[in-house]
Amino acid sequence: MVRIEEAIKIIQDQDIKLKTEIRKLINCLGFSISEDFVAPFAMPSFDNSAMDGYALCGIIQEYKIVGEVAAGNISEIDLKEGEAVRIFTGAKVPENTTAVMMQEKAKVNGDKLILEEQPKEGQSIRRKGGQLEEGQLVFEKGYAITPAGIGMIASLGIEKVEVYKKPVINLITTGDELITPGKFKKEGQIYESNSYALAVACEQFGFPVQHRLQIEDNFESIKSGIKKSIENTDILILSGGISVGDYDFVKQALEENGVEEQFYKVFQKPGKPLFFGRKENKFVFALPGNPASSLSCFYIYVLPFLQKFSGFQECGLPKYSFSISHDFENRSDRPSFLKAKVINDNVQILDGQGSSMIQSMAKGNALAFIDAETSAKKGDQIDCYLIS
Ligand code: AMP
Ligand code: MG
Repeated sequence: MVRIEEAIKIIQDQDIKLKTEIRKLINCLGFSISEDFVAPFAMPSFDNSAMDGYALCGIIQEYKIVGEVAAGNISEIDLKEGEAVRIFTGAKVPENTTAVMMQEKAKVNGDKLILEEQPKEGQSIRRKGGQLEEGQLVFEKGYAITPAGIGMIASLGIEKVEVYKKPVINLITTGDELITPGKFKKEGQIYESNSYALAVACEQFGFPVQHRLQIEDNFESIKSGIKKSIENTDILILSGGISVGDYDFVKQALEENGVEEQFYKVFQKPGKPLFFGRKENKFVFALPGNPASSLSCFYIYVLPFLQKFSGFQECGLPKYSFSISHDFENRSDRPSFLKAKVINDNVQILDGQGSSMIQSMAKGNALAFIDAETSAKKGDQIDCYLIS
């Protein structure tokens, strides 16, 4: 049995051979870049107007309008003191432009431009290099690309990006009692739900699951299921059968497949029977079968590893402190991840903390961490991992 911090460290410290690939930019959302990314040219690459209005030369009240320049066009005009050109947002400002005045603050009379307020030097001009200088670091290696990141890279004219490959993930659920939703349920059976919750949780964070496999509680079936599944995967996630019951065959089946234990059992609630192992550059998480435990372990342990495997610089759920909105006593002798709801700056611990109870997790949006045998008073700050 390991403590939570040890388990997290063991996962973080795994030496992984990261693989890279070149992807089209449009397909790079949620991938992390595998090299520092520097600007190939300055942004903006030329001085341009931030407004629809008039480019002015000199600071006076009246100007002579000598032409027009629209976005995408280049003006050949060299402005002289007292001259102005009509200009539109994004258009390159002519040589000698002192400032741009927005059209709402100017009146036109023939070729005369009369300003309603005095311009300030440089006003409404977006300067060359104002956002980035040529050669400046745009994103560090390991940056996980967001929609704005895609836009930024596109604006630098780049169409293909080298990123870290994401892991191939397979999912195995075990249990004789499990039946697939949509089928007729006999007495004693329950609907299999973990593969659903886990697969979409992976997907939500940008890690699609390749195969889902359901196996009965039979040692040979589990062993051969793991053997087949681990061959074409980077990360294998199992649920159920990892506890100490007579029908819990997963641990032994993993060992017989050459998977080396990195840790087994974590001193926490829920999710004590959690296994993490590796076979060369393949990794295995065996999660407890109870629905809330398996998903809780996914968020705290599996997700950061999927991100680490994908080269992310920052891994794991966002963690913040919130003020608890009521007194709470954690009577468990184990540190606990509690289903909770964060509203504004407050957190409420929800009813229904049982390992099998997933409704409270579905209604909540956080896992609140409270140490073993610890009381929190209303208003105390509690660490929360935001799950949505
Ligand atoms: P286990 O870890 O196999 O002992 O399972 C613990 C509890 O979780 C049992 O009540 C199982 O019926 C339930 N369980 C296991 N796997 C699943 C699953 N895939 N979907 C829903 N419940 C499950
Ligand atoms: Mg079972």
